[in-house]
Amino acid sequence: MAQTYDVVIVGAGAAGLMCAAAAGYRGRRVLIIEHAAKPGKKILMSGGGRCNFTNLNSTPANFLSDNPHFCISALKRYTPQDFLDLVERHGIEHEEKAEGQLFCRHSARDLLDMLLTECDWAGAELRLKTSVESVRQTAGGYHLKTSGGAIECEALVVATGGLSIPTMGATGFGYDLARQFGLSVLPTRAGLVPFTLHAELKQQLAPLAGISCPVDVHCNGEHFLEPMLVTHRGLSGPAMLQISSLWQPGDVLSIDLLPGHDPLAELQTLKQQQPSLSLERYLSRILPKRFAQSFAIMHGWQGPLQEYRSNDLESAAETLSHWTLQPAGTEGYRTAEVTLGGVDTRQFSSRTMAARDVPGLYFIGEVVDVTGHLGGHNFQWAWASAVAAGNIA
Ligand code: FAD
Repeated sequence: MAQTYDVVIVGAGAAGLMCAAAAGYRGRRVLIIEHAAKPGKKILMSGGGRCNFTNLNSTPANFLSDNPHFCISALKRYTPQDFLDLVERHGIEHEEKAEGQLFCRHSARDLLDMLLTECDWAGAELRLKTSVESVRQTAGGYHLKTSGGAIECEALVVATGGLSIPTMGATGFGYDLARQFGLSVLPTRAGLVPFTLHAELKQQLAPLAGISCPVDVHCNGEHFLEPMLVTHRGLSGPAMLQISSLWQPGDVLSIDLLPGHDPLAELQTLKQQQPSLSLERYLSRILPKRFAQSFAIMHGWQGPLQEYRSNDLESAAETLSHWTLQPAGTEGYRTAEVTLGGVDTRQFSSRTMAARDVPGLYFIGEVVDVTGHLGGHNFQWAWASAVAAGNIA
């Protein structure tokens, strides 16, 4: 005999747990099925272990999607302030790091415990180490064959996340299930991910690993003014992670290494006032010294400014404001924070996350084609889409 529930949620991550609590508080009998041995693993590793759980300035403009208006409704109806109120009701200490980015003061564990407590209070049941072997539609909903026996439910919520960090339990289950029910899935790729470099540049930059500086990076009509970090493998840091979500293989990045400066005007003035100054010395007043040295060597900038002709200065200034480089690729899903693309949102109600043509089937969180910028937006989407579904499923 199959066990029966009103709502079954597959995936005990951020979205799945939040949805379970919302549905449970409405008196629905809820079961969460998680194949890993522990729930919420990504929450625990997020934000350097302190979980950047929302962003007070989150707006639909912080999200990428093939259907950009889809996220508006859910984000409007469950706001960063709503989530912050919940965090504060649980007495979790938090702090704002950069512009609106809220982190747990102590540990992401506090946030996961809060979600598990909410699920407990709402009467939702959590079954770990359980895999879903098959799903079929029935007259009254869905029949699931799981490693823990057969389960019947009215509503099935897919909250299995994206493909990033496979070692944390990521699977393509959600995409496969979508296809099984005739729903289309947009191509996926790694987002918020460090870049790898071609051999020569990688070798030139390798000694600078660990150095970070603010840059304004441009690609495909978007730009981000944030720190860039040189690593042993390539380029990372918030600026590079952000732009990686806009980057396609073969694209060139244009990096302003001196944002807020007018290098041509500054170099022309310095040539008059301090003709014996080197370009490297000028750079090391603004950039980290080792970076300035290497960058000057890479571009053959030697000698005092008085030896530079006007067009030499123009070309150096152009390189500093528009340093163009073509990444070899990205580190891929192994280190990506998110998966771009996914289940096409055009097939869902933006109010409820329900599939329009498949009664009782919902998709929430990262598995759908809504991806946030870095800075707490991805969790805000997980909470908002989860509440949208949990209030109706
Ligand atoms: P997930 O949290 O990935 O949860 C999916 C769950 O489904 C997992 O528990 C998984 O084990 C389970 N599952 C998968 N397949 C199956 C299956 N077949 N059967 C049963 N269960 C299954 N976002 C932010 O906003 N702020 C941050 O600070 C932040 N930091 C991050 C740091 C890292 C290193 C990473 C990788 C991501 C970070 N993110 C951050 C992104 C954020 O973690 C995700 O966007 C968010 O977790 C998505 O929530 P979700 O519930 O949709 O998916």
